[in-house]
Amino acid sequence: MEGFCDVEAGGFRFRGTSRAGLATAVAIDSLGILCDAGACDLRMISADVVLLSHDHPDHFVALPQILTQRQLLGHGLMRIFAPTGMIDSLEAFLAAGQLASARASWRYELIGVEPGDWFEVGGGRRAQAFEVEHTVTTLGYIVYDVRRKLLEELHGQSPQDLAARRAQGEPVDREVLVPLIAISGDTVAAGLRAHPDVAKARVLLAECTFIDAAHRERAVETAHTHLDDLVALLESFENEAVVLYHFSLRYRAEEIDEALSERLGAGLRQRVKVLLPGAWTPGSIR
Ligand SMILES: [Zn+2]
Ligand SMILES: [Zn+2]
Repeated sequence: MEGFCDVEAGGFRFRGTSRAGLATAVAIDSLGILCDAGACDLRMISADVVLLSHDHPDHFVALPQILTQRQLLGHGLMRIFAPTGMIDSLEAFLAAGQLASARASWRYELIGVEPGDWFEVGGGRRAQAFEVEHTVTTLGYIVYDVRRKLLEELHGQSPQDLAARRAQGEPVDREVLVPLIAISGDTVAAGLRAHPDVAKARVLLAECTFIDAAHRERAVETAHTHLDDLVALLESFENEAVVLYHFSLRYRAEEIDEALSERLGAGLRQRVKVLLPGAWTPGSIR
């Protein structure tokens, strides 16, 4: 394993590892959410909610390690959200893991999710799943802050008036959902158009598997994002920060940095960060 890294973006800390085909797991500390579970690190296991994107093994195989560490350290129930179609096989995988592991008594709940589904993710926050475009059924997720906003027609009313309205059971405010984080899952770049709030979330965690012009066809064949297709989208998106992850093992950190500096305008380059484990020595895959 090539290690884990921390990225600060938009007021959040993203902690984890990600390389295409090897392992992807990214914890968002302050939200208690783990995006995919392809690797285990002690600093990531406190997340009580896991959002699994799809059933490619490098995105979920570390669940037994994570659940074992959580048991040892006395953590509570872990809620694992995943595309409905992978729940049965995931249940069998975890059951086998528990059988193989002496004294295992993992505390988890598997919850099947369909595109468009809403669910609570703790801390008063809510998430919605959306379907992206990959070689298998894959979900992206948007995590929202849930806030209350005073009704426009009541602006300027005194606290006493508002209290009286409340006492009579009249509505004084409405719910407002603020998109905090958009998570792409594995997808072609166009998959990011599948949900309007991808462009509005404070931070977009976007896969960017390929950067080299020679790998455009490979990106199409494997239904992954190529940087060239992502750039135009990001220019039109409003995200305060974008964290790119899931780079192919083909690329060294310097190559990725160079490609971003060449192809992103200066303004966009400032908003884009890279989640890339630090200690990687380039391989020979081409
Ligand atoms: Zn992947
Ligand atoms: Zn995949």
